[in-house]
Amino acid sequence: MSRIAYVDGQYLPHRSAGVHIEDRGYQFADGVYEVLAVVGGHLIDEGPHLARLARSLAELRIVPPMSDAALRIVLREVVARNGVRDGSVYLQITRGAAPRDHAFPRSAEPVLVVTGRRKKPPDPRLAAEGIAVITIPDIRWRRCDIKSVALVANVLGKQRAREAGAFEAWQVDGEGRVTEGTSTNAWIVTADATAVTRQADSAILNGVTRLAVFDIIRREGYRLVERPFTVAEAKAAREAFVTSTAVELLPVVRIDGDPVGSGTPGPLSQTLRAFYLAHTAAAA
Ligand code: PMP
Repeated sequence: MSRIAYVDGQYLPHRSAGVHIEDRGYQFADGVYEVLAVVGGHLIDEGPHLARLARSLAELRIVPPMSDAALRIVLREVVARNGVRDGSVYLQITRGAAPRDHAFPRSAEPVLVVTGRRKKPPDPRLAAEGIAVITIPDIRWRRCDIKSVALVANVLGKQRAREAGAFEAWQVDGEGRVTEGTSTNAWIVTADATAVTRQADSAILNGVTRLAVFDIIRREGYRLVERPFTVAEAKAAREAFVTSTAVELLPVVRIDGDPVGSGTPGPLSQTLRAFYLAHTAAAA
């Protein structure tokens, strides 16, 4: 089945689909995006993703190009036309195409692009063995709460992780505290079995997976604290893990080469992962 992309009102062959060379997403990273998981043909946590999209658009003062009801139809159409049972949909809204000028153009119309991708579930070895992370300075702008397509700092960070043989890079603020990964939220579990992750301030993206795990923790009666933690505290933690739409929940077993806890996936991480997988399977 050949891939189909939705581009600004049309369904086009993915291979030849494109936007204008003066699209402001291309020239200024003037746009936002979302990635939704598809499990068993169903979109996971669509409501929270669309709520975050609306927030990101409002923060950048981009007018939504269509209603949520219409967008939900386009998302389903892209899932169907690409035969996605398990995979993801990517959606991006930019301020549109206009002659290059930093200030908002008077006449540009926002441009919506939606693509779908079939994908095997993440390699089970990652969850079974756990992942390694490195720590790097957080060099991003101060509005990481907006899901902007300006990801070059994240790109550089992830590449550093790859080159170091690690799965993810945890970014660290000026006070030595972890903000988040380059495409995941960062968590630790303290000695008294409390799950700790940074509060959703402007230094992190408020992950939809993070919020789903909050619901699980509360429902199951585990302890949760939203606060920053340092690299030293993370290295001394009982467990650590990351969350995102793409990787679900993965245990972290090494930070900068040092083992976390026993150096194997921790029990709370594994339990929360199982509950999270049940949450996505329930939608299917
Ligand atoms: N932080 C960053 C910087 C991200 O790019 C992502 C992935 N979009 C996340 C956190 C996790 O967000 P979510 O759980 O909504 O995928």
